[in-house]
Amino acid sequence: DILMRLTDVWKIYKMGEVEFAALKGIDLEILHGEFVVILGPSGSGKSTMMNLLGCLDLPSKGVVELNNKDISKMKESELAQIRGQLIGFIFQTFNLIPTLNTIENVMLPLEFQEEDADSCWKRALELLDVVGLSDKKYNLPSQLSGGQRQRVAIARSLAVDPRVILADEPTGNLDSTTGDYILEFLSGLHQKEGKTIIMITHDPDLTKYADRVVHIKDGMVDKIEILKKNNEAM
Ligand code: ADP
Ligand code: ADP
Repeated sequence: DILMRLTDVWKIYKMGEVEFAALKGIDLEILHGEFVVILGPSGSGKSTMMNLLGCLDLPSKGVVELNNKDISKMKESELAQIRGQLIGFIFQTFNLIPTLNTIENVMLPLEFQEEDADSCWKRALELLDVVGLSDKKYNLPSQLSGGQRQRVAIARSLAVDPRVILADEPTGNLDSTTGDYILEFLSGLHQKEGKTIIMITHDPDLTKYADRVVHIKDGMVDKIEILKKNNEAM
């Protein structure tokens, strides 16, 4: 069961007269329920990949399909819905709103879904409980440690119950112990709830929970390593 399929995907950035190919003919399939790590050094094209996988950008050439539909042929409203409901995004820099407290940050995506304030609050509190932070609900992001901030960001990404979590260097700003905890948490979401996890990183140490590791080099797939058989997907 294929979630995303990239077929001969190119991304060419144009800077005036100069063109630069950041992705050069990527072929890749991502299955429902898989934990995939996209691993590559700085400049290899990971962020460009993330933007395509998150339906934040379209390829210059080639096809990106989501659930067998070409994303280039979708309306902006359909893409917005995918970004808002199918995919939960997690970033290296957490991207919390600094003026909102923990529970308000988690409630934000729910408010866009026009749920009433009471049910938003209840759902956000449940999610904070899941990440072990219900006692920090009134803290501002600046009053949390890095690991706690990332847990708030994870709770927020889970608010709309996305099938897919797209994480860009989620442990990049954390010490290794805290980073391990975050990885284990993501792995738990994959194992217990069957979420598809797509994690992008430059760090080979972060691949231990992955079903597959896609090595990216100079905008191309260098090799694909299968670490675990994914029962649900295979
Ligand atoms: P990574 O995330 O692996 O560091 P990126 O996808 O950010 O790689 O970048 C891949 C290559 O594309 C780099 O050489 C970078 O300089 C280039 N690049 C990225 N974004 C742009 C852009 N908007 N315009 C021009 N070149 C870009
Ligand atoms: P770590 O070293 O694990 O990143 P910190 O030393 O930053 O953790 O934080 C330890 C505890 O202190 C956490 O429970 C955090 O919520 C709390 N804390 C950190 N900074 C503040 C702050 N500015 N105001 C209130 N509580 C804080």
